[in-house]
Amino acid sequence: MFFVRTISIFAQNFIVKVTEYFEKSEDTLVSFEVLPPLKGGSMKSIFDTLDPLMEFKPPFVDVTYHREEYIYNQRESGYYEKIAIRKRPGTVGICAAIMHRYGVDAVPHLLCGGFTKEETENALIDLNFLNINNVLALRGDARRFEDKFVKQPGGHANALGLVQQMQKMNKGEYLDKGIDNGTKTDFCIGVAGYPEKHFESPNFELDLDYTKQKIDAGASYIVTQMFFDNDKYFEYVDKCRSIGINVPIVPGLKPMTKKYQLNSIPRRFYINLPEALSKEVAKANNSAAVKEIGIEWAIEQCKELKAKNVPCLHFYTMGDWETSKRIIEKVF
Ligand code: FAD
Repeated sequence: MFFVRTISIFAQNFIVKVTEYFEKSEDTLVSFEVLPPLKGGSMKSIFDTLDPLMEFKPPFVDVTYHREEYIYNQRESGYYEKIAIRKRPGTVGICAAIMHRYGVDAVPHLLCGGFTKEETENALIDLNFLNINNVLALRGDARRFEDKFVKQPGGHANALGLVQQMQKMNKGEYLDKGIDNGTKTDFCIGVAGYPEKHFESPNFELDLDYTKQKIDAGASYIVTQMFFDNDKYFEYVDKCRSIGINVPIVPGLKPMTKKYQLNSIPRRFYINLPEALSKEVAKANNSAAVKEIGIEWAIEQCKELKAKNVPCLHFYTMGDWETSKRIIEKVF
């Protein structure tokens, strides 16, 4: 308890841009992504995940955003009622709580989906007032049961629009043109990148072109979709550099720990799993063995990425701190 309090007294020192951490560190850093708990849950699940990982001194922690989804409730009459609910609210509150408890920066994910530009502006004002100056700007996916992303009326169709809006606020320009001398925000904007192409893009080059537009519009770093084959990441970085994307590209890592992920990861994230890894996991005859294989694979991946001096190893924890901890202990 004393430790936690001590940190929060010095909390003002941590408000730094994500990119500054990369600039200042000669070594590869470690960072984490956490998911808000399901509605009705508490901050305990976040702290239980992060407490054991703080020894690795992550300069920042990302918190995902989950838009509303539709569920169908059967009424007594037999008809179904369509209800929109957000199952994992609380992104901004969690960020503030993380900053307060650990004295590290928290990076909320902000989506186009479900937001008008006006609502985006208000959300950004909240973030600015809370001194949350790092944001990962994303489009978001289609809602469950919808087959494609539909932009909110009055909202942005893709992450580029969101980056542009944030960049305008960084210059003191708000949607209301009547605002003179608007406060200039100081957002450090991250965006997503896809070493194996975003699934909706007609081809890799066009996808990369759109990513470059996000950078040219003011985004200052990229966090990648997970990958299990480091060559995909290295090729992606080379291609980015060849078209003039020169910002830090942070590899996103999700160790495989369950056999069903052999199918669910490609289906959900549109990425390939290397043959060697898939074969070993398929052969394993119990869940403990699968986990060991996944952890060993991730350790080798991380060792190679670190040897190539990537800015940061960014772990998608999904509430599983133990796996990340075991990997990091072997790599650093
Ligand atoms: P965009 O950059 O907008 O790209 C979306 C598609 O549109 C791509 O196919 C792109 O090529 C195309 N495109 C881009 N610009 C243009 C243009 N100007 N004209 C035409 N086409 C264009 N989802 C969540 O809901 N919550 C999260 O917290 C979350 N966190 C994530 C974190 C990371 C690191 C990553 C990699 C993904 C995350 N996602 C999250 C998923 C993300 O929302 C989806 O992958 C989504 O489908 C695309 O988001 P984007 O920001 O990459 O979109």
